[in-house]
Amino acid sequence: MARYVLISDTTLSRNYRGVPLLDFLASAPTDAIPQSVYSFLRGPPPPASGGRAVLAPYAIRKLEAALLKGLPRDEVVVAQESHVADFVDEDTEVIGVSTMDPLGLGPLTMSYAVFFETQAPAYVQRDFEDLIASVNRARSGKKAKLMVGGPGVWEFTVHPDELEKNGIDYAFQGEADDIAVDLFRYVAEGSRERAEFFRGYQTFTRDFRKEWAPSPRFISRYQFSRQFPSLDDIPEIQGPSVKGMVEVMRGCGVGCDFCEVTLRPLRYYPPEKVERELEVNVRAGMGNAWLHSDEIFAYEHGRNFVPNEEKLLELVTAVMSTPGIEHTNPTHGRISIPAAYPDLMMKMAREMRAGPTNWIGLQVGVETGSDRLAQIHMPNKTLPLRVGPDGTWQEIVWRGTYVMNSYYWRPAFTVQVGQADETAEDNWATVALINQMSNSTLRSGRPFEFTITPMQHVPLGLLKNRNFSSLKLDVSQLAVYYAAYRHLAKVAARNATRASSEAGFRSRYLTGGMVGLGGWAMFRTVRNICRKGGLDIEAAERYGMSSSDRHQTPSLLAAR
Ligand code: SF4
Repeated sequence: MARYVLISDTTLSRNYRGVPLLDFLASAPTDAIPQSVYSFLRGPPPPASGGRAVLAPYAIRKLEAALLKGLPRDEVVVAQESHVADFVDEDTEVIGVSTMDPLGLGPLTMSYAVFFETQAPAYVQRDFEDLIASVNRARSGKKAKLMVGGPGVWEFTVHPDELEKNGIDYAFQGEADDIAVDLFRYVAEGSRERAEFFRGYQTFTRDFRKEWAPSPRFISRYQFSRQFPSLDDIPEIQGPSVKGMVEVMRGCGVGCDFCEVTLRPLRYYPPEKVERELEVNVRAGMGNAWLHSDEIFAYEHGRNFVPNEEKLLELVTAVMSTPGIEHTNPTHGRISIPAAYPDLMMKMAREMRAGPTNWIGLQVGVETGSDRLAQIHMPNKTLPLRVGPDGTWQEIVWRGTYVMNSYYWRPAFTVQVGQADETAEDNWATVALINQMSNSTLRSGRPFEFTITPMQHVPLGLLKNRNFSSLKLDVSQLAVYYAAYRHLAKVAARNATRASSEAGFRSRYLTGGMVGLGGWAMFRTVRNICRKGGLDIEAAERYGMSSSDRHQTPSLLAAR
């Protein structure tokens, strides 16, 4: 039994059979993928020891560490998903749940909902509801309060009624590393007015300025106090994290106008701090280090977001010199850096021991193939290159991918559909980019290795009334989905069995078969929907592939 019990969204605790892109599976609508297929592909629940999670998502490990700064070990428990009830009794004061996409409103989940025109909940939402129902059963008739936190809390600001509907007492918004003990005590003691906390949440105006909205079920840091913990306030994890994730920095600062991360202050972990967290994971048998940041190339960056080669190499060298670490990859980064700094990519790859059997995955928000949209929404994302003098955005992306693949980096791109100011021509530019890249090779003849996933931007008004069926994709938007899923099917067929890191031969090939087949089935479904929506499939497949198309550029072809 414990005073504070912590648990995470179950979708964040699974390893998805070791196939990186399957992390997105839980965003699929429940009427699109059979439950049995979903259950197999997400993999088994994480192991438990005495009911405690042996591995837990990094955010929960961070919260656990923050609470342990001021509380004895036996008062805080990270429970494995099937064992919450084992730890909840009359003395339990707060159950904390960390969540990423509780109501299924995230951009990827929306991309499926809008594309398939379905009102069915996504697995991510259904799994969250199941978890909350099991927590509520465990605390029924007891005093324990239920509080949710994490990056998905914004969704409750859109639908505050869902808190009550799900029997959740409070939602905490923001970073809590330095105030976690106070926060949990505050909730345990009945959450009466206190100067440190604001009863409400932060939101943004149309021009991206912060606003404060009072709301009794929300708790956030007091408006006129410091809003973020300093680097010194951020504790180090005490227990191992899922996939060996450790953080290397917070914030970004690049300033894309659709991204909230950019508003957070930059804080860089020194390599020694990263190493200490890695040692916790290595002791649990983890040889992998997944380096979390929202923009790895901003790590200790110089003016104009010029990457700091010395610091980046120092960081990855420290990671790979940690005894027990065999593989590492950063989570997110910009494509303009590989395009502009091939030597840096080569040196980082060498330190990370990249090669044909050890690809370095990196999630990259390419967002669009359109120069116009890139310049409107993310002028700094291209820095230190500039769209215009240094080529088109498509050329920059193509060059960056060429460099990444040359040194065994594999980008997992995302593009946005439904951005503000978007025109059909912008979407066709994205189609051209995808088609060209999908048919490109390195000089050695190796095909370009990348995945690309559309993310749907849904206006807040529609998110509020959940009226997604009124959002009809036009032909140019369907073409983006079509080009992306056509490429994904090609990659799935090519790489499925190799992509899984599952140990067993049978499981690996079963997973590979399902991924290959799933990619093909998904593509067929996408093609049918696009055809019905009026897309000329043959024209979409050819778009951007002939020199007469307006988005094809001579220098891009010359480099091929
Ligand atoms: S580079 Fe990425 S993390 Fe940084 S502001 Fe732009 S979208 Fe956000």
